[in-house]
Amino acid sequence: MIVAANLKTNLTRKETREYVNAVENFALTNSLTQDIFVFPATSSLDTFETKVTVGAQNAYAVQNGAFTGEIGLDHLDEFGIKTILIGHSERRHILGETQELIAQKFNYFKELGFTIIYCVGEPLEKREAGTERMMEYIDAQYEGIDTNYEKLIIAYEPVWAIGTGLTPTNEDIVAIHTELKKKSLSPLLYGGSVKVNNAQEIMALENVDGVLVGSAALKVEDFCQMVTFAEELDKLV
Ligand code: PEP
Repeated sequence: MIVAANLKTNLTRKETREYVNAVENFALTNSLTQDIFVFPATSSLDTFETKVTVGAQNAYAVQNGAFTGEIGLDHLDEFGIKTILIGHSERRHILGETQELIAQKFNYFKELGFTIIYCVGEPLEKREAGTERMMEYIDAQYEGIDTNYEKLIIAYEPVWAIGTGLTPTNEDIVAIHTELKKKSLSPLLYGGSVKVNNAQEIMALENVDGVLVGSAALKVEDFCQMVTFAEELDKLV
């Protein structure tokens, strides 16, 4: 199973180091074998010698250059970062990233052999428009994306569930994940208001290969608890 923490615009570099160390120590002490990812804020990136995979929340599809406010490959290479989150709904809907730009980033980092956690998901009005319209919307988020890329992990994150405390029903998660598995056999995470009290049952659902956690991951004990749930579920298989 895969358990990933998106720290968003939280935790300073010092706090991030403490966070990653705490997760690493927890995983070692408890002999956990899950794939753990942490995505710190850009200015908190650093060299981490740990089994926890530290990735970037964003980078521009360039080695370096005149792209004010962005970072490029050089900045990731400095810290040995080979994992990136692409297509997150906050970048699509708040920062206005288009599918074209997202696909460009995807292809750039794919060519470099990065592990890519690629996010898809519908806003509420698309869900309310019915399954067909919703799936059309999600389908468009696969445009320009190589769904057979061997280092691809997909995260299904309904926009209306992110940071709201709302989640789809378990039946809805299974239905959408089953559809998305037809598009790509890559590991498929669920994200959107995953917390300690629902992580276990969500991870146990069919076609759910792990979770991408935002707000609830900020409490490191809670994130570690979710990794433990993943470990326990793996042992049952
Ligand atoms: C996210 O931002 O990827 C996310 C899933 O956020 P939250 O867990 O806060 O809904």
